[in-house]
Amino acid sequence: MSSGPLAPGARIGILGTGQLGRMSALSAARLGYRTHVFGPEADGPGMQVATARTCAAYDDTAALTAFAGQVDVVTFEFENVPHATLAALDGRVACAPGAQVLANCQDRLVEKRFMAAAGVPVGPWAPVESAADLAAAIAAVGLPAVLKTTRLGYDGRGQAVVHTVEDAKAALARLAPHPLILEAFIPFVAEISAIVARGTDGSVVSFDAVENRHTHHILDLSFAPARIPAGVGAAARRHAMALATAQDLVGVLAVEFFLLADGRLLGNEMAPRPHNSGHWTMDACDVSQFDLHIRAIAGWPLTAPARHADAVMRNLIGAEGMARCPAMMAMPGVALHLYGKAEARPGRKMGHATRCLPLGALGYLPDAGALGEL
Ligand code: AMP
Repeated sequence: MSSGPLAPGARIGILGTGQLGRMSALSAARLGYRTHVFGPEADGPGMQVATARTCAAYDDTAALTAFAGQVDVVTFEFENVPHATLAALDGRVACAPGAQVLANCQDRLVEKRFMAAAGVPVGPWAPVESAADLAAAIAAVGLPAVLKTTRLGYDGRGQAVVHTVEDAKAALARLAPHPLILEAFIPFVAEISAIVARGTDGSVVSFDAVENRHTHHILDLSFAPARIPAGVGAAARRHAMALATAQDLVGVLAVEFFLLADGRLLGNEMAPRPHNSGHWTMDACDVSQFDLHIRAIAGWPLTAPARHADAVMRNLIGAEGMARCPAMMAMPGVALHLYGKAEARPGRKMGHATRCLPLGALGYLPDAGALGEL
């Protein structure tokens, strides 16, 4: 990867068949690259736009070997791809980000330690390997708290808010797989994310920090830029840059933070890939998070993204989200992105819509005004 950018027509392998891979593949196509999507869902959003596809399980060794021989670089679009899959490819073909990055972000215990070691403050936490650890963890962390699986949790799956020891015991019995982590419940005033991209030459660029609102633990809205003091946004970007550099990451890294009333940021989690809270960049910036991810893993120099509008992004979730589409399609200034999912199951991310506003508008518009009919 150090011998200059990938040539036009080169093949980018993407592990994972979801919408993040789909939007990355569309960016890759703009730069003249082909994409080969690998994953178990034959009709996943990424499969639909790829130039080549392998529908196989992540532990299908023969399929992985063939895939490694057919692509010039491999990336992944979600961090629950088994570590063994990327480790099996690493060495046979360039992988960006590498297997070590995946390991840092797959396990909440590893992730928390990694963030703290990189100088990013995190809230109180304790590991819960078994029922025997629970009392000590509660004593260390306090209540209320959030009990989470260390692996395979997303969009609120694999976690429970606990207010009492009885709650915690019940959640411990319910949550799987073990081990678990007990985190102090953080009384945040806002949730913030920062997205950075790091190139093969080690240069790092970042987007404006974003303010995120969740409904039922699923991202509902992102406001870009976050309506926070400039120094706080800059700190979030600096932390995300430090985390990318500390793990020699090539590609995009998203970091979620809790903002406390006193202006402090606490790191929550990181995702070494384009992130839902960065979808607004497709419509409000000169280069999107997907463009930067592809540029980074293809070995191009990175330029700092420029935001030409304020933006509000709304996720379209399940059948209810899809029902909004006709009205949204008729709204001037709203960009609709649909992921090609046939079945609108509850909680499923079907698409998103971004409303661009004049630069600075988020600073003076109330939420309702900023959202318009979104
Ligand atoms: P996560 O999967 O860790 O991003 O958690 C999903 C959402 O649950 C977060 O975006 C928060 O809204 C909430 N949450 C998770 N952990 C905590 C915590 N320790 N304190 C308060 N809220 C939390």
